[in-house]
Amino acid sequence: MNFITLNNGVKMPQEGFGVFQVPDADVCEQAVTDALNAGYRLIDTAAAYMNEEAVGAAIRKSPVPRDEIFVTTKLWIQDAGYENTKKAFQVSLEKLGLDTLDLYLIHQPMNDYYGSWRAMEELYKAGKIRAIGVCNFYPDRLADLCLNAEVIPAVNQVECHPFFQQKTAMETMKEYGVQIEAWGPLAEGQKDIFHNAALTAIAKKHNKSVAQVILRWHIQRGVVIIPKSVHKERIEENIDIYDFELSAEDMAAITAMDLGHSEIIDHYSAAAAKWLNSFKIH
Ligand code: NAP
Repeated sequence: MNFITLNNGVKMPQEGFGVFQVPDADVCEQAVTDALNAGYRLIDTAAAYMNEEAVGAAIRKSPVPRDEIFVTTKLWIQDAGYENTKKAFQVSLEKLGLDTLDLYLIHQPMNDYYGSWRAMEELYKAGKIRAIGVCNFYPDRLADLCLNAEVIPAVNQVECHPFFQQKTAMETMKEYGVQIEAWGPLAEGQKDIFHNAALTAIAKKHNKSVAQVILRWHIQRGVVIIPKSVHKERIEENIDIYDFELSAEDMAAITAMDLGHSEIIDHYSAAAAKWLNSFKIH
């Protein structure tokens, strides 16, 4: 497992396990248990995924020591603002059954996220969180936050995969020392990605699966990845990517797949802002 050193010196595993769209507690706890057994040491959840309790249960029951697991959760839009964030952070900690968090992220750049950031800066300085960051902050919002914050975000988690490679966003992140973390690293399976001809050809050459090739491509570009699966064999497959290397030619063939935009969600649209704001978690 590779580690990335964040802008505050904290080391973060370059690969972790995501649990979006795993609302069933038993399924989620089993998946996180399988992931920890397979060697994952980063778990990515969110208040809005409604599964923090199950994630916490798997972590507490695991023989892996707590300080070897990098736990991320996220603050939902409904809980934005200084006071609300402090409360929501406490609720998340209680649901997870943990005393501290490794990474706390603002889930969406919506509602009073400056108030949220001030609260997160305080929690970070008080030692309750090892690193703080954001999600879905496109270049304009990320630059603005970096220019006005006391603590520069350590991480920006954005959609990133072969169809949407985030080249411009990555430049802004690099400028401010913000680590990119890919959500939807497997494009959530969209556009029949697991049967894509170019990826299949590369996979055949290396005797690996298409999923493994995609994840390896992210690793070689320096991106943190958190692939999700509820299937044990896929969970194991997705972390078995450290015994081969993509050539410059392989990397270039994947670079050529970039569409330059999302086909999952358009964060610049009013429709997305309305839809995301309408999702209530309590
Ligand atoms: P993803 O990891 O790109 O794709 C997950 C999908 O791929 C699932 O349908 C899974 O199916 C399938 N899959 C996984 N491994 C596979 C394999 N080896 N072969 C074939 N199919 C495979 O999408 P994601 O879950 O949306 O993103 C990953 C994580 O990012 C999330 O779980 C969450 O933690 C985070 N996220 C964050 C945001 C944000 O706004 N910050 C948004 C979305 C996601 P099965 O489960 O059936 O195996």
